[in-house]
Amino acid sequence: MTKTILITSGPTREYIDPVRFISNASSGKMGKAVAEAALKKGFNVIVINGPSPEKIKPSKKCKIINVVSASQMFCAVKSNLKYADIFIGTAAVADYAPVFVSKIKIKKNKNIISLKLKKNQDIIKYVAEHKGFKTVAGFALETNNIIEYAAKKLKEKKLDMIVANGPETISSGKSNPVFLFADGREKKLVRGTKQYVAKEIINEIIKIESCKTCKNGN
Ligand code: C5P
Repeated sequence: MTKTILITSGPTREYIDPVRFISNASSGKMGKAVAEAALKKGFNVIVINGPSPEKIKPSKKCKIINVVSASQMFCAVKSNLKYADIFIGTAAVADYAPVFVSKIKIKKNKNIISLKLKKNQDIIKYVAEHKGFKTVAGFALETNNIIEYAAKKLKEKKLDMIVANGPETISSGKSNPVFLFADGREKKLVRGTKQYVAKEIINEIIKIESCKTCKNGN
């Protein structure tokens, strides 16, 4: 049976008032490249897409769900998890959201204001904790100690694989990541386009899936 990959993509926006929000520079290019690479390999894909200029063409095999905030992304992931065999978290989910969202535009009549923020749900961690036999792959973008921090996230979030990147990756068309795997393996890629990196990610996912199938004796 054709397997389905659930992908989160792009940034999220955490609104402060009707016109202002907290976000990041994620372009959504990686999520789009991963979705397209998965489609080329014959998978069905469901993309939970944060606000990004990158447009993925919907089709019978490719469902697109547009969301804005991390909490909307989390709801969409939860309700689509049952259709997925594999989860890839490419989204740069905002880590915090304002505790209070003003219904009207906040006036700039004070020199200093403070913003109270609360931590967002870690979507991929939730998926990994509720995964059953799903393969879960995530990303780590770090400015320093890249491999060390990525390895920590791989373990803490209980992922099968993590793609470790430097900050030059964000918004860029290229990347030179290192893949870290739950079994301790590491694979360094040469610098290449996000399409090339996405193809390598999907190839690794296929290998992980076929290993699981062997172990289950299917
Ligand atoms: O902890 P950090 O944000 O660096 O982890 C990055 C990985 O975790 C990415 O795969 C990202 O999609 C995922 N993530 C998530 N929900 C969050 C934060 C990160 O799914 N709230």
